[in-house]
Amino acid sequence: MGTGWVWNERLAWFDNGRWAGPLAPGGFVEPGEHMENGETKRRVASLVAASGLLDRLTPVAARRATREELLRVHTPGYLDYLAAENAKPKGGFADREIQRVPFGPGDLEIAELAAGGTIEAADAVARGAVRNAYVLTRPPGHHALPDTGLGFCVLANVALAVEHVRAVHGIERVAVVDWDVHHGNGTQDIFYGDPDVLTVSIHQDRLFPDGGLAAETGGPGAEGANVNVPLPAGCGTGAYEYAFEQIVLPRLRAFRPQFVVAASGYDSAAFDPNGRMMLHSDAYRWMTERLMAVAAESADDRLLVVHEGGYSAFYVPFCALAVVEALSGHRTEAADPALARLAANPLQALQPHQAALVTAIRDGGAPTDSGVPA
Ligand SMILES: [Zn+2]
Repeated sequence: MGTGWVWNERLAWFDNGRWAGPLAPGGFVEPGEHMENGETKRRVASLVAASGLLDRLTPVAARRATREELLRVHTPGYLDYLAAENAKPKGGFADREIQRVPFGPGDLEIAELAAGGTIEAADAVARGAVRNAYVLTRPPGHHALPDTGLGFCVLANVALAVEHVRAVHGIERVAVVDWDVHHGNGTQDIFYGDPDVLTVSIHQDRLFPDGGLAAETGGPGAEGANVNVPLPAGCGTGAYEYAFEQIVLPRLRAFRPQFVVAASGYDSAAFDPNGRMMLHSDAYRWMTERLMAVAAESADDRLLVVHEGGYSAFYVPFCALAVVEALSGHRTEAADPALARLAANPLQALQPHQAALVTAIRDGGAPTDSGVPA
């Protein structure tokens, strides 16, 4: 069994319009290209093809998610709202309140293609057509909530895939590990009261949105089914490896998931304009291999990796390639040209304040605010 691969050129055409990063254009803020744009993803697809790896993958065709599938996570009111926004001549906004998640006219179809492609890949993994799969999808999904979009996200791609394998394939326990530099708030929220879905997010503390604290451990009846590892800015491979070994992997192994999903954002990499972490391509390879080991133990290898954020057009492709190489077990000759320099930085090593924080989170004594525990 091989590794499934989802990509569709139309996903690159989703139009966020002209924007100004975290600022609202207007006044003296000049609008420019939106940082969540098709190029960062298209270049991943290009490198996977140029490296020769594409020839070893099993294509999984994306298709639009159905309303029935979307209703497993989203409210009818939100879907109706999106349809109305989508019909506007200049497009609309996916977030109902603050109107900061724009999309072009007709782009709801592309968001549905992203969600449906993720569902199709999950289905291929669940029924054993492929061993694991990578979904190069856009727009991303991990901030989306049942009744609104948020933070570049329109539909909750990962959550929709989780609900699909539970509803259609009878899989009972699913684990989601989110290493995007931002908190996976949407996935957390959707499953917060569900003891059968373990949601883990390792992220830069209070970067976006607010929340994501270690004290958020699950709702009534689901205590312990949500794990947040909010890390201080500046973490490298040492801190991430320590967090995996001390918290993420033990929690996964205790949960014994039958299906594993990674929400794979690359804004936790060095060079990213949106995050302040230091990961390199080998860090993503290592994290993927760790999840493959967990999946091998309790999930018959079933692992779905879904692309989330990542805004360095030149570096995201090498990090994503490393993940797909790990999934497929095939190393290409397309080496990461920045790896040696990034790995040689002595600050990649676990720092004392990072170790203290991870240990405190592990032991349930994490501070309720940021900083190093006393
Ligand atoms: Zn992100």
